[in-house]
Amino acid sequence: MTKIINGRKIAAEFCDSVRDLVTELKARGIIPRIALINASNDLASEIYVSKKEKLAESVGIKSDVYKFSQGTKESEVADLIEKLNADKSVHAILLQSPLIEGLRFRELVNLIAPEKDVDGLTTINQGRLFSGEPGVIPCTPLGVLHLIRTVHEKIAGLHAVVIGRSSIVGRPMTLLLLNANCTVTALHSYSRDLPDICRTADIVVSATGQPKFVEKNFIKPGATVIDVGVTRITEADGTKKIVGDVDFDEVSEVAGAITPVPNGVGPMTVAYLMYNTLKLACCY
Ligand code: NDP
Repeated sequence: MTKIINGRKIAAEFCDSVRDLVTELKARGIIPRIALINASNDLASEIYVSKKEKLAESVGIKSDVYKFSQGTKESEVADLIEKLNADKSVHAILLQSPLIEGLRFRELVNLIAPEKDVDGLTTINQGRLFSGEPGVIPCTPLGVLHLIRTVHEKIAGLHAVVIGRSSIVGRPMTLLLLNANCTVTALHSYSRDLPDICRTADIVVSATGQPKFVEKNFIKPGATVIDVGVTRITEADGTKKIVGDVDFDEVSEVAGAITPVPNGVGPMTVAYLMYNTLKLACCY
Protein backbone atom coordinates (compact mmCIF):
# COMPACT_ATOMS: atom_id res chain seq x y z
CA MET A 1 0.00 0.00 0.00
CA THR A 2 1.23 3.50 -0.82
CA LYS A 3 2.54 5.44 2.14
CA ILE A 4 1.35 9.05 2.26
CA ILE A 5 4.20 11.01 3.84
CA ASN A 6 2.62 13.36 6.35
CA GLY A 7 4.97 16.35 6.22
CA ARG A 8 2.88 18.32 8.66
CA LYS A 9 3.14 15.66 11.38
CA ILE A 10 6.83 14.97 10.73
CA ALA A 11 7.59 18.71 10.84
CA ALA A 12 5.67 19.12 14.11
CA GLU A 13 7.67 16.28 15.71
CA PHE A 14 10.92 17.75 14.43
CA CYS A 15 9.95 21.19 15.80
CA ASP A 16 9.42 19.60 19.24
CA SER A 17 13.07 18.58 19.26
CA VAL A 18 14.14 22.03 17.99
CA ARG A 19 12.09 23.62 20.82
CA ASP A 20 13.90 21.46 23.41
CA LEU A 21 17.29 22.48 22.03
CA VAL A 22 16.27 26.17 21.98
CA THR A 23 15.34 25.85 25.67
CA GLU A 24 18.77 24.36 26.42
CA LEU A 25 20.49 27.15 24.51
CA LYS A 26 18.50 29.82 26.34
CA ALA A 27 19.60 28.27 29.65
CA ARG A 28 23.16 28.98 28.46
CA GLY A 29 22.20 32.64 27.89
CA ILE A 30 21.83 32.52 24.11
CA ILE A 31 18.51 33.60 22.59
CA PRO A 32 18.39 32.46 18.95
CA ARG A 33 17.20 35.32 16.77
CA ILE A 34 16.22 35.51 13.12
CA ALA A 35 15.67 38.57 10.92
CA LEU A 36 13.01 38.03 8.24
CA ILE A 37 13.38 40.56 5.42
CA ASN A 38 10.25 40.90 3.36
CA ALA A 39 10.99 43.05 0.33
CA SER A 40 8.36 41.33 -1.75
CA ASN A 41 4.95 42.53 -2.79
CA ASP A 42 3.16 39.27 -3.43
CA LEU A 43 0.56 37.81 -1.12
CA ALA A 44 2.22 34.39 -0.95
CA SER A 45 5.41 35.91 0.51
CA GLU A 46 3.33 37.75 3.09
CA ILE A 47 1.76 34.42 4.13
CA TYR A 48 5.14 32.60 4.19
CA VAL A 49 6.78 35.30 6.33
CA SER A 50 3.88 35.26 8.76
CA LYS A 51 4.09 31.43 9.04
CA LYS A 52 7.83 31.69 9.74
CA GLU A 53 7.22 34.35 12.39
CA LYS A 54 4.57 32.21 14.11
CA LEU A 55 6.64 29.03 14.09
CA ALA A 56 9.67 30.91 15.44
CA GLU A 57 7.59 32.14 18.35
CA SER A 58 6.23 28.64 19.01
CA VAL A 59 9.73 27.10 19.27
CA GLY A 60 11.11 29.99 21.34
CA ILE A 61 13.15 31.72 18.62
CA LYS A 62 13.02 35.51 18.54
CA SER A 63 12.09 36.91 15.13
CA ASP A 64 11.96 40.40 13.67
CA VAL A 65 10.19 41.17 10.40
CA TYR A 66 11.51 44.00 8.19
CA LYS A 67 8.95 45.00 5.59
CA PHE A 68 9.85 47.03 2.52
CA SER A 69 7.29 48.41 0.09
CA GLN A 70 7.18 49.09 -3.64
CA GLY A 71 9.68 51.77 -4.64
CA THR A 72 12.32 50.63 -2.13
CA LYS A 73 15.87 51.18 -3.37
CA GLU A 74 18.32 48.27 -3.36
CA SER A 75 20.67 50.34 -1.18
CA GLU A 76 18.01 50.50 1.58
CA VAL A 77 17.82 46.71 1.79
CA ALA A 78 21.62 46.49 1.52
CA ASP A 79 22.00 48.93 4.44
CA LEU A 80 19.68 46.82 6.58
CA ILE A 81 21.62 43.64 5.75
CA GLU A 82 24.91 45.34 6.73
CA LYS A 83 23.33 46.49 10.00
CA LEU A 84 22.03 42.98 10.78
CA ASN A 85 25.42 41.46 9.89
CA ALA A 86 27.04 43.70 12.50
CA ASP A 87 24.41 43.02 15.20
CA LYS A 88 25.76 40.25 17.44
CA SER A 89 22.27 39.46 18.84
CA VAL A 90 21.08 38.42 15.33
CA HIS A 91 22.10 34.89 14.34
CA ALA A 92 20.15 34.36 11.12
CA ILE A 93 19.02 36.51 8.19
CA LEU A 94 16.45 35.45 5.60
CA LEU A 95 15.73 37.40 2.43
CA GLN A 96 12.26 36.31 1.29
CA SER A 97 11.88 35.92 -2.49
CA PRO A 98 10.62 36.98 -4.98
CA LEU A 99 11.77 40.56 -4.47
CA ILE A 100 10.00 43.76 -5.51
CA GLU A 101 10.75 44.55 -9.15
CA GLY A 102 14.06 46.36 -9.52
CA LEU A 103 15.78 44.64 -6.58
CA ARG A 104 18.38 42.02 -7.47
CA PHE A 105 18.16 38.86 -5.35
CA ARG A 106 21.65 37.44 -6.00
CA GLU A 107 23.38 40.75 -5.28
CA LEU A 108 21.46 41.27 -2.04
CA VAL A 109 21.65 37.71 -0.77
CA ASN A 110 25.41 37.73 -1.24
CA LEU A 111 25.66 40.67 1.19
CA ILE A 112 24.42 38.39 4.00
CA ALA A 113 27.34 37.20 6.14
CA PRO A 114 27.79 33.46 5.34
CA GLU A 115 27.58 32.65 9.06
CA LYS A 116 24.10 34.28 9.21
CA ASP A 117 22.89 32.99 5.81
CA VAL A 118 20.09 30.83 7.22
CA ASP A 119 18.85 29.52 3.86
CA GLY A 120 22.34 28.70 2.56
CA LEU A 121 21.93 30.82 -0.56
CA THR A 122 25.12 32.88 -0.56
CA THR A 123 27.66 31.84 -3.15
CA ILE A 124 30.00 30.86 -0.29
CA ASN A 125 27.54 28.42 1.30
CA GLN A 126 26.51 27.06 -2.10
CA GLY A 127 30.20 26.49 -2.86
CA ARG A 128 30.64 24.65 0.42
CA LEU A 129 27.75 22.34 -0.47
CA PHE A 130 29.28 21.85 -3.92
CA SER A 131 32.61 20.82 -2.43
CA GLY A 132 31.03 18.72 0.33
CA GLU A 133 32.40 21.02 3.07
CA PRO A 134 30.31 21.90 6.14
CA GLY A 135 28.16 25.00 5.65
CA VAL A 136 24.56 26.14 5.75
CA ILE A 137 22.32 24.01 3.53
CA PRO A 138 19.08 25.43 2.05
CA CYS A 139 16.00 24.60 4.12
CA THR A 140 13.79 23.01 1.45
CA PRO A 141 16.33 20.36 0.32
CA LEU A 142 17.13 19.60 3.98
CA GLY A 143 13.42 19.08 4.62
CA VAL A 144 13.09 16.86 1.56
CA LEU A 145 16.03 14.71 2.65
CA HIS A 146 14.44 14.33 6.09
CA LEU A 147 11.19 13.12 4.47
CA ILE A 148 13.08 10.67 2.24
CA ARG A 149 14.82 9.26 5.33
CA THR A 150 11.41 8.53 6.92
CA VAL A 151 10.90 6.04 4.07
CA HIS A 152 14.40 4.74 3.37
CA GLU A 153 16.68 3.74 6.21
CA LYS A 154 19.64 3.75 3.81
CA ILE A 155 19.77 5.89 0.69
CA ALA A 156 23.38 5.29 -0.39
CA GLY A 157 23.41 3.73 -3.84
CA LEU A 158 19.76 4.53 -4.62
CA HIS A 159 19.02 6.31 -7.87
CA ALA A 160 17.46 9.71 -7.21
CA VAL A 161 16.10 11.93 -9.96
CA VAL A 162 15.73 15.65 -9.25
CA ILE A 163 13.55 17.60 -11.69
CA GLY A 164 14.47 21.31 -11.59
CA ARG A 165 17.85 23.00 -11.15
CA SER A 166 17.17 26.33 -9.41
CA SER A 167 19.71 27.56 -6.88
CA ILE A 168 17.04 27.48 -4.14
CA VAL A 169 15.76 23.93 -4.61
CA GLY A 170 16.91 21.77 -7.52
CA ARG A 171 20.69 22.31 -7.48
CA PRO A 172 21.19 22.06 -3.69
CA MET A 173 18.86 19.03 -3.65
CA THR A 174 20.98 17.31 -6.31
CA LEU A 175 24.18 18.03 -4.36
CA LEU A 176 22.71 16.99 -1.01
CA LEU A 177 21.64 13.63 -2.43
CA LEU A 178 25.00 13.22 -4.14
CA ASN A 179 26.79 13.98 -0.85
CA ALA A 180 24.53 11.34 0.74
CA ASN A 181 25.95 8.83 -1.79
CA CYS A 182 22.89 8.50 -4.01
CA THR A 183 23.31 8.12 -7.75
CA VAL A 184 21.74 11.38 -8.90
CA THR A 185 20.30 12.53 -12.20
CA ALA A 186 19.45 16.22 -12.57
CA LEU A 187 16.67 16.94 -15.07
CA HIS A 188 15.46 20.30 -16.41
CA SER A 189 13.47 21.82 -19.22
CA TYR A 190 16.03 20.80 -21.87
CA SER A 191 16.20 17.16 -20.75
CA ARG A 192 15.26 14.57 -23.33
CA ASP A 193 13.41 11.36 -22.48
CA LEU A 194 12.46 12.76 -19.08
CA PRO A 195 9.68 10.22 -18.30
CA ASP A 196 11.97 7.29 -19.27
CA ILE A 197 14.76 8.56 -16.99
CA CYS A 198 12.33 9.15 -14.11
CA ARG A 199 11.07 5.59 -14.49
CA THR A 200 14.52 4.28 -13.56
CA ALA A 201 14.56 6.18 -10.25
CA ASP A 202 14.07 4.87 -6.73
CA ILE A 203 13.39 8.45 -5.59
CA VAL A 204 11.88 11.26 -7.66
CA VAL A 205 12.00 14.84 -6.33
CA SER A 206 10.08 17.31 -8.47
CA ALA A 207 10.62 21.07 -8.17
CA THR A 208 9.38 22.64 -11.39
CA GLY A 209 6.25 24.61 -10.46
CA GLN A 210 4.38 22.87 -13.32
CA PRO A 211 1.04 21.51 -12.05
CA LYS A 212 0.43 17.78 -12.66
CA PHE A 213 3.68 17.54 -14.63
CA VAL A 214 4.72 14.22 -13.08
CA GLU A 215 2.39 11.53 -14.35
CA LYS A 216 1.81 7.91 -13.39
CA ASN A 217 3.90 6.61 -16.31
CA PHE A 218 6.98 8.53 -15.00
CA ILE A 219 7.15 6.41 -11.87
CA LYS A 220 8.65 2.98 -11.23
CA PRO A 221 6.28 0.90 -9.07
CA GLY A 222 7.26 1.33 -5.43
CA ALA A 223 9.36 4.48 -5.94
CA THR A 224 9.32 7.38 -3.48
CA VAL A 225 7.90 10.61 -4.91
CA ILE A 226 8.54 13.98 -3.26
CA ASP A 227 6.57 16.92 -4.60
CA VAL A 228 8.19 20.30 -3.87
CA GLY A 229 6.00 22.28 -6.27
CA VAL A 230 3.55 24.86 -5.01
CA THR A 231 1.31 26.51 -7.60
CA ARG A 232 -1.81 28.53 -6.91
CA ILE A 233 -4.52 27.74 -9.47
CA THR A 234 -8.11 28.82 -9.99
CA GLU A 235 -10.50 25.98 -10.84
CA ALA A 236 -13.22 26.34 -13.53
CA ASP A 237 -15.76 27.11 -10.76
CA GLY A 238 -13.57 29.94 -9.42
CA THR A 239 -12.23 28.08 -6.38
CA LYS A 240 -8.59 28.82 -5.59
CA LYS A 241 -6.39 25.87 -4.80
CA ILE A 242 -2.74 25.02 -4.13
CA VAL A 243 -1.37 22.17 -6.23
CA GLY A 244 1.99 20.47 -6.62
CA ASP A 245 3.98 19.21 -9.61
CA VAL A 246 2.68 15.67 -9.24
CA ASP A 247 -0.64 14.25 -10.38
CA PHE A 248 -1.23 12.93 -6.86
CA ASP A 249 -4.31 10.74 -7.50
CA GLU A 250 -2.73 8.90 -10.43
CA VAL A 251 0.84 8.70 -9.12
CA SER A 252 -0.23 7.43 -5.70
CA GLU A 253 -1.54 4.31 -7.48
CA VAL A 254 2.04 3.25 -8.33
CA ALA A 255 4.37 5.03 -5.90
CA GLY A 256 5.61 3.30 -2.75
CA ALA A 257 5.52 6.59 -0.85
CA ILE A 258 4.40 10.08 -1.84
CA THR A 259 4.09 13.56 -0.34
CA PRO A 260 0.82 15.45 -0.66
CA VAL A 261 0.50 19.17 -1.49
CA PRO A 262 -0.24 20.93 0.81
CA ASN A 263 1.16 19.31 3.99
CA GLY A 264 4.14 17.64 2.40
CA VAL A 265 7.39 19.54 1.87
CA GLY A 266 6.07 23.01 2.85
CA PRO A 267 5.97 22.49 6.65
CA MET A 268 9.43 20.87 6.51
CA THR A 269 10.93 23.96 4.86
CA VAL A 270 9.77 26.19 7.72
CA ALA A 271 10.82 23.61 10.32
CA TYR A 272 14.34 23.54 8.86
CA LEU A 273 14.45 27.34 8.91
CA MET A 274 14.10 27.02 12.68
CA TYR A 275 16.70 24.25 12.81
CA ASN A 276 19.20 26.29 10.76
CA THR A 277 18.59 29.34 12.99
CA LEU A 278 19.30 27.22 16.05
CA LYS A 279 22.44 25.82 14.45
CA LEU A 280 23.72 29.30 13.57
CA ALA A 281 23.03 30.49 17.12
CA CYS A 282 24.93 27.49 18.56
CA CYS A 283 27.82 27.28 16.20
CA TYR A 284 28.93 30.79 15.35
P1 NDP B 1 12.25 27.89 -10.62
O1 NDP B 1 11.21 28.42 -11.54
O2 NDP B 1 13.38 28.77 -10.21
O3 NDP B 1 12.88 26.57 -11.26
C1 NDP B 1 12.07 25.61 -11.89
C2 NDP B 1 12.96 24.55 -12.45
O4 NDP B 1 12.12 23.58 -13.06
C3 NDP B 1 13.94 25.03 -13.53
O5 NDP B 1 15.20 24.47 -13.32
C4 NDP B 1 13.32 24.55 -14.84
O6 NDP B 1 14.26 24.16 -15.83
C5 NDP B 1 12.58 23.31 -14.37
N1 NDP B 1 11.42 23.06 -15.24
C6 NDP B 1 10.39 23.89 -15.50
N2 NDP B 1 9.54 23.31 -16.37
C7 NDP B 1 10.06 22.10 -16.66
C8 NDP B 1 9.67 21.04 -17.51
N3 NDP B 1 8.55 21.12 -18.24
N4 NDP B 1 10.45 19.94 -17.58
C9 NDP B 1 11.58 19.85 -16.84
N5 NDP B 1 12.02 20.83 -16.01
C10 NDP B 1 11.26 21.94 -15.94
O7 NDP B 1 11.46 27.37 -9.34
P2 NDP B 1 11.96 27.01 -7.86
O8 NDP B 1 13.02 25.98 -7.91
O9 NDP B 1 12.19 28.23 -7.08
O10 NDP B 1 10.63 26.34 -7.29
C11 NDP B 1 10.08 25.19 -7.90
C12 NDP B 1 8.72 24.91 -7.28
O11 NDP B 1 8.91 24.63 -5.90
C13 NDP B 1 7.76 26.10 -7.32
O12 NDP B 1 6.45 25.60 -7.48
C14 NDP B 1 7.91 26.73 -5.95
O13 NDP B 1 6.75 27.44 -5.56
C15 NDP B 1 8.12 25.51 -5.11
N6 NDP B 1 8.81 25.73 -3.85
C16 NDP B 1 8.29 25.11 -2.76
C17 NDP B 1 8.90 25.22 -1.56
C18 NDP B 1 8.32 24.49 -0.41
O14 NDP B 1 8.73 24.72 0.72
N7 NDP B 1 7.38 23.57 -0.64
C19 NDP B 1 10.10 26.03 -1.36
C20 NDP B 1 10.61 26.60 -2.58
C21 NDP B 1 9.98 26.45 -3.78
P3 NDP B 1 15.26 25.20 -16.55
O15 NDP B 1 16.33 25.46 -15.54
O16 NDP B 1 15.75 24.46 -17.73
O17 NDP B 1 14.46 26.42 -16.86
